[in-house]
Amino acid sequence: MNLDKSQALFDRAQRIIPGGVNSPVRAFRSVGGVPRFIASAKGCRVTDVDGNEYIDYVGSWGPMILGHADERVVAAAAEALQRGSSYGAPTELEVRMAQRVVECFPSIELVRMVNSGTEAVMSAVRVARAYTGRDKIIKFDGCWHGHADGLLVKAGSTGLQYGVPDSAGVPASYAEHTLVARYNDLDSVEALVAENEGQVAAIVVEPVAGNMGVVPPVPGFLQGLRGLATEAEAVLILDEVITGFRIALGGAQEVYGVQADLTTLGKIIGGGFPVGAYGGKREIMERVSPLGPAVQAGTLSGNPVAMSAGLATLQALREPGLYAALEAKSKTLADGIGEAARQAGVPLTCNRVGSMMTGFFTDQPITNADDLASCDKDRYARFFHLMLDRGIAFAPSYCEAAFVSTAHGDADIEATISAARDILPKL
Ligand SMILES: *Cc1c(COP(=O)(O)O)cnc(C)c1O
Repeated sequence: MNLDKSQALFDRAQRIIPGGVNSPVRAFRSVGGVPRFIASAKGCRVTDVDGNEYIDYVGSWGPMILGHADERVVAAAAEALQRGSSYGAPTELEVRMAQRVVECFPSIELVRMVNSGTEAVMSAVRVARAYTGRDKIIKFDGCWHGHADGLLVKAGSTGLQYGVPDSAGVPASYAEHTLVARYNDLDSVEALVAENEGQVAAIVVEPVAGNMGVVPPVPGFLQGLRGLATEAEAVLILDEVITGFRIALGGAQEVYGVQADLTTLGKIIGGGFPVGAYGGKREIMERVSPLGPAVQAGTLSGNPVAMSAGLATLQALREPGLYAALEAKSKTLADGIGEAARQAGVPLTCNRVGSMMTGFFTDQPITNADDLASCDKDRYARFFHLMLDRGIAFAPSYCEAAFVSTAHGDADIEATISAARDILPKL
């Protein structure tokens, strides 16, 4: 596989962009090798600058549920662009987007559009603090909520502890307001709530974890969090930046029958443009300026091109049977790779919810971040590169999600399984 142009661009990029990339995981640090610089994408395929084509399961890390350059989305964005790209004034598109969100998520009465998932969660936390008059938040080890200061804390594998920042540049005096619990472990949350009685503003969680690889909530976990938050008078923030419109139109809240106080959205809702949203109960969201004292603003928030692409995406997702078909296809893929691994004698734990999945190279169940220690990262790196050489792109890290889109055809799924069948025995 010729990578000359990607290599040349990566060399150039590294001289003028930190690590050569605008988001760290793109640099292939955990698998090694040359990141592919992408020239174009269509349907389930991406093409790099050297002309190599890949069946893509990265999907821009979640947004591309309809595949790349879906004609309906392209047309809507192009049409919007003709009418001007930003006004800094309200538009009908924003009202229609809010309407669509409110229809899909019964727990959302008021919703605000922002420019990224990071901004959505950061803002939701601020509003929760404004509403409760408290400072502390509880998050979970292994859950990613974007790069806002107070959320860059996960406590590593040492179990429960007070917040220690993962990132340089986050003041410890700020991170200490972040308490870290273990995913799928209600007792760990209950203990933190009890130790910090009357001080917890919010419990924030990915209802299906997607950023330590896919880790589904065990039965009762989300309901338990709902109960604990209500009891503690804390705001339950369900971060549905990945799961919203991915596992159902109404996200994890629809699938698991749980209601958030505040919900954060992103990725799919922007149809591939930079968008996030946060919303929830009227009395909480009324704390947001100009109604209330919690300040949050954005020059490009509710951008008309992004709203148009997002609306076209959400409209397309309303097609009856779409999620069932996506589920069936994803199951075929997960089952196929699982069977190939069994035949090859390679231990593989496949976690999947709808069209998001991760195959972990381990014989252990993966239910929280501690469990990741059992995964064979080097084996994943070998798998990743051999698949990439065969024209199939999974995420360049052993604990990330793979995303199936409506544009993946049965033949693409079969080709992927068949490549895995060849490659797994060589690992
Ligand atoms: C991607 C992601 C974010 C951050 O969104 P950005 O648009 O990358 O800022 C937040 N929460 C979750 C659950 C995510 O997956």
